[in-house]
Amino acid sequence: MAINLFENALKQFNKAAGVMNLDTGLRKILSHPQRELTVNFPVRMDDGSTEVFTGYRVQHSFARGPAKGGIRYHQNVTLDEVKALAFWMTWKCAVVGIPYGGGKGGVTVDPSKLSMGELERLSRRFFSEIQIIIGEDKDIPAPDVNTNAQIMAWFMDTYSMNMGHSVLGIVTGKPLEIGGSLGRPEATGRGVRVVAEEAANYIGMDPSKATYAVQGFGNVGSYAAKIINDEVGGKIIAVSDVSGAIYNPEGLCIDDVIKYKDGNKGLIEGYPKAEKISNEDLLSLDVDILIPAALENAITVENANDVKAKIIVEGANGPVTPEAEEILLGKSCFLVPDFLANAGGVTVSYFEWVQGLQHYFWRLEDVRTALHRIMKDAFSSVAKTKSKYETDMRTAAYVDAIEKVATATKLRGIYP
Ligand code: NAD
Repeated sequence: MAINLFENALKQFNKAAGVMNLDTGLRKILSHPQRELTVNFPVRMDDGSTEVFTGYRVQHSFARGPAKGGIRYHQNVTLDEVKALAFWMTWKCAVVGIPYGGGKGGVTVDPSKLSMGELERLSRRFFSEIQIIIGEDKDIPAPDVNTNAQIMAWFMDTYSMNMGHSVLGIVTGKPLEIGGSLGRPEATGRGVRVVAEEAANYIGMDPSKATYAVQGFGNVGSYAAKIINDEVGGKIIAVSDVSGAIYNPEGLCIDDVIKYKDGNKGLIEGYPKAEKISNEDLLSLDVDILIPAALENAITVENANDVKAKIIVEGANGPVTPEAEEILLGKSCFLVPDFLANAGGVTVSYFEWVQGLQHYFWRLEDVRTALHRIMKDAFSSVAKTKSKYETDMRTAAYVDAIEKVATATKLRGIYP
């Protein structure tokens, strides 16, 4: 299954490479990660025993700048998974035009089974092990599944201790107090808002009069819903989380739903000013814009025919399967692909890195303005490529991204 992930990634790449008639040599270069590091390292456990863990850091491309991508802790992490994720990061950074290549890392571990002390020792030792290939001008990690701002703080401190001075640019997603950026928590949701608005304008729909449904009310979904509600003026008529979905055809007050969720163990279940519906019902509501922002494979061949939304903005990674996408495109649904739609997070990570390198920190409105411009320009560029090649938005986004990386690779040439 892990092997399929990288193979699937290559399939998407090859489809776009075919559409754009990419040179065979460049195809070969870009189909391989440039560097793959596997580390096996010991950690002292609380009971005095020693465990050996395996971790990875993969750097797919440096053609446009240092590698960038998160580190995940999960019991199913494999080298192939990390390779696929690093590969996707290259295209995500390229499609929004930020000067990075793709990287990703992971440790095969279930962190819920570790104490805080074990987690800290594992994090510090893993970061020391991969230090031979990372650096603020080489590869800049960030949080991913099961890693967070505290772990980034340990990473930053470990690297800084080894270097003998504080190195703010070594990781992003840090706490504000040690070089994090304002606007980072909301960044992915804010980016989703920008592309949703652009997509509506593109197909001739007024985004301020549109209706929206949001699947998943975590970091991405709740910020996207709030910002669309507050700034675009669109009506969010349904949201869902793991506990179920809520629906109000008059529009939900998102601030009120967030307040309720915060006082209800993080769940929207039981919210009184809406009707309870099922998660499946939410996906098939008659809305203008559907934002799947929960997990992968939410829309499959099983339910794609029931989807009525005119626009889908993929807040989550991989929420629509390739077979479901064929069905949706056949119904003239306009789909904004994940690596464009959710690139707001890595974009503000880039801002955090720039601020850290300069030791000069921006105001929140500067972060928001710069993010808005980047997301808007990226959407417009992909839409132009879509028209040029008469293709779908996902393939167009790949073509746009591959073109940038291929051009940089060609300009730099093959060393020696
Ligand atoms: P999160 O854990 O904060 O939120 C996930 C939400 O989905 C929760 O509300 C959860 O209850 C809900 N959920 C889970 N299963 C569900 C189901 N079957 N039906 C409806 N809701 C369900 O995660 P997140 O950070 O918001 O990430 C969501 C997705 O976005 C993931 O695919 C992630 O990889 C992707 N993503 C996140 C970021 C980021 O900056 N957070 C950036 C890029 C991509």
